[in-house]
Amino acid sequence: MAKKSVKDIDVAGKKVLVRVDFNVKLKDGRIKDDTRIRAALPTIEYLRGQGARLILVSHLGRPKGAAEEGLKMDPVAARLSELLGASVNKADSLVGADVEKLADALEPGGVLLLENSRFDPREKKNDPSLAAELADLAEVYVDDAFGTAHRAHATTAGVAEHLPAVAGFLMEKEIEALSAVVVNPGRPFIAVLGGAKVSDKIGVIERFLDIADEILIGGAMCFTFIKAQGYEVGTSLVEEEEGLAVAGRILEKAAGAGCELHLPTDVVVAERAEEDAATQIVAATAIPEGWMGLDIGPETRAAYAAKIAGAGGVFWNGPMGMFELAPFAAGTQAIAQAMADCPGMTVVGGGDSLAAVNSLGLADKMGHVSTGGGASLEFIETGGELPGVAVLLDS
Ligand code: ADP
Ligand code: MG
Repeated sequence: MAKKSVKDIDVAGKKVLVRVDFNVKLKDGRIKDDTRIRAALPTIEYLRGQGARLILVSHLGRPKGAAEEGLKMDPVAARLSELLGASVNKADSLVGADVEKLADALEPGGVLLLENSRFDPREKKNDPSLAAELADLAEVYVDDAFGTAHRAHATTAGVAEHLPAVAGFLMEKEIEALSAVVVNPGRPFIAVLGGAKVSDKIGVIERFLDIADEILIGGAMCFTFIKAQGYEVGTSLVEEEEGLAVAGRILEKAAGAGCELHLPTDVVVAERAEEDAATQIVAATAIPEGWMGLDIGPETRAAYAAKIAGAGGVFWNGPMGMFELAPFAAGTQAIAQAMADCPGMTVVGGGDSLAAVNSLGLADKMGHVSTGGGASLEFIETGGELPGVAVLLDS
C-alpha cells in the first residue's frame, strides 16, 4: 500500500495545502504541549526548502461547527512561527475571498495557517462544496495528519479528490510501520491487547486472529473473556450481555484459527480501584467475591514477556492494568520493557498505551510509536483502508 510522498512530487513555486495535526492541548489560551506542532516540522521545513508556498490547515479541539474564541488557531501560529524562526501568517477564516488573497500573496517558502477547520460545519460532513473551495486555494495537497486519517472529512479526504494528493513524512512513517504489521509482519508475530473495553477492539482482535501467531490479552477486557469462559470475576470490569457474547464468539473463532489466544493465568486484585487499597495475587480463575482485577499477575507478566522476547514482530495496544495507579502498573511496565528489549519489529498504538510508554521513558526503544490512537486501530482493522490514506496517490 505504498503511497506517493512529498518527495515524489514537484512543489517548487506551487501553492501546497498541507493537512497537519495541530490539535494541541490548550490551557487558558496557551499551548500545554507542542509535540504535535514539532512533529509536523520535517514536512513543513522540507516543503519550504523546496520553495513551495505553504497553506496549513488543521482542526483544534471540538468546536461544534461554529467559531469559538478559545479554539482559534492564533496561539498555534505563534508557536509555529517561533519553532520555524520565520513569520507565519494566520488567516481569520478557512476559505473565502480573503483567504484566497493571502494564499496568492505567499512567497516561495512562505507559510499561511488557516483557521480551525471545524469552525465550518461542512468539514465533518465532508461537504463537496467545502472540499472544492479548499482545493481552489492550492495546486498540490499533502496529508500529514495520520491521527485523523480514519475520518472522511473535507480537509482529510474530500479535498484530495481535486488535487494531486501525497503523504507528508509523518503520514508516510505511519503507513510504512503499520503496513508492515498488517501485510508482512516478522514471525512469530504477536499482538498484545489490553485496555478498557472489548467492544472498542472487536474488529482489531478479529483481524489479529487472521494475521497474528499469538494474541496476549490483558487489561480490563480480559475479565469479560474470563467470565465468558464461565468463571467468576468479582467486581472486575465486565461488559455483560453483548460483550460476553462477543468474547465467547472470539474464543470460539480463536480455537478454529491458526492463532493462539492467551488470557492471564494470574491477576492482581484489590478491594477498591485506589492506590492504598489492599491487594493480593490470585489465579485468574479464582477471583474472590468483592475483589476487582486491576492488573495481570507476576506469572502472566513473565509468560507474556518471554513470548515477546522471542517474537519477530509485536503490536501492542491497550495497557495491561490500571497503570495510572502505581500498584497496578507492573503489567504494563513489563510489556513495555519486553518490547523495548525485543529485537523484532515493535509497534505501539493507542492513546493510553502511548502515554504509558512515554511515562516509562521507553518510546525511543520502540520500532514505531503511532501518533494516531483510533486511526492506528482502524488501519489494522481495515487492512490500511482509511479514508485519508485511500485518497493518496499510489507510488
Ligand atoms: P488505549 O488508549 O491505549 O487504546 P484504552 O483506552 O482501551 O487504551 O484503555 C486504557 C484504560 O484502561 C486506562 O485508563 C486503564 O486504567 C484502563 N484499564 C486497564 N486495565 C484495567 C482494569 N483491569 N480495570 C479497570 N481499568 C483498566
Ligand atoms: Mg484510550
